[in-house]
Amino acid sequence: MLKTAILGSTGSVGTQALDVARHNPNIKITAITANKSVAAVEAQIREFRPEYAALEDEAAALDLKARVADCGTKVLCGRAGVSELIAKTDADAFVNSVIGFDGLFSTLEVIKTGKRLALSNKESIVAAGEAVMALAKKSGTEILPVDSEHCAIHQCLRSGTHGEISKLIITASGGPFYGKTTEELENVTLADALAHPTWAMGKKITIDSATLMNKGFEVIEAARLFDVPANKIEVVVHPESIIHSMVEYIDSAVIAQMSVPDMRLCVAYALNYPDRIKGATPALDLFKTARLTFKAPDTKTFPLLALAFKALDDGMTRPAVLNAANEIAVNAFLREEISFKHIPEVVFDTYEKTPEMSELTVESIYAADAEARRIATEATKAIIRKR
Ligand code: MN
Repeated sequence: MLKTAILGSTGSVGTQALDVARHNPNIKITAITANKSVAAVEAQIREFRPEYAALEDEAAALDLKARVADCGTKVLCGRAGVSELIAKTDADAFVNSVIGFDGLFSTLEVIKTGKRLALSNKESIVAAGEAVMALAKKSGTEILPVDSEHCAIHQCLRSGTHGEISKLIITASGGPFYGKTTEELENVTLADALAHPTWAMGKKITIDSATLMNKGFEVIEAARLFDVPANKIEVVVHPESIIHSMVEYIDSAVIAQMSVPDMRLCVAYALNYPDRIKGATPALDLFKTARLTFKAPDTKTFPLLALAFKALDDGMTRPAVLNAANEIAVNAFLREEISFKHIPEVVFDTYEKTPEMSELTVESIYAADAEARRIATEATKAIIRKR
């Protein structure tokens, strides 16, 4: 029996992780956390009967407590409740599918337990990757990525040693705007940006896919997770989303991982590694797939991908600044306060204006994040005033 806790259980990956448990009687859900979706969490408690549940929003937690009084699930409340849940649950592994920089809190709490972390919250590894990896090494926490590209690379890396890696090749669908020019991007709408061609995902990551910021974050994520420098990481546009990433070795052998695009495969892999289990993901039909194509990314039209490589090179808290600026800009775009082309404007402006910290610690990352958010909010307001 694999006891599992899902942190951020109501988001896109959280619900898919629960679906993996639904299809595998050997996975027992022991704890779930969410922000404030009372009705969704109540339904999850009634189906999975976890020992613990926690909501970050205190009023929502009180409401939930009353609603599930008949279930025997202990309901905890607020950030302290999330931290208590992580410490007390007897889960063998945690899925962190919280969205955004907020997920760093859960990542750090899980690392304290030394237990396995199936990490879908990429912002915590982008913003605080060096600190997170060092702390995980110390506590014995094994981090398994729940991100299709990194799950693919993790599988490909089983074919050779670290010293034999020539480069990591991260595939990108290109998003809904692949092939468009800067002029054509002037008037794209929120609905256009939310229409991803191959993956069904949450709103924030779908916008990040449209700007290629997501791919940039995945470059940083790969560098941290697999300890590979920026100059050994390449991005290739592969619109079919069948090859989820590749590793090239020094003998020029390229190992690729293929499957239909389905996050449940990544969740099941991360929870069961080094074993594989029969999952809910349908088999790949090669004859239906027929053609796989590869093209170079357009970093001129989508400059945030290039900025991510720069942030990785610049090091220190620059990836945290990049992440914070992007979260503010994307949220403003999702509220339709700024247009699509303003997202990189806000991010570049903030990246330039946010001062560097004198040291790299978890505290300095939180400080850089807060300062970048303040500056990005100002930049966003200036754009709104001009519109
Ligand atoms: Mn991905």
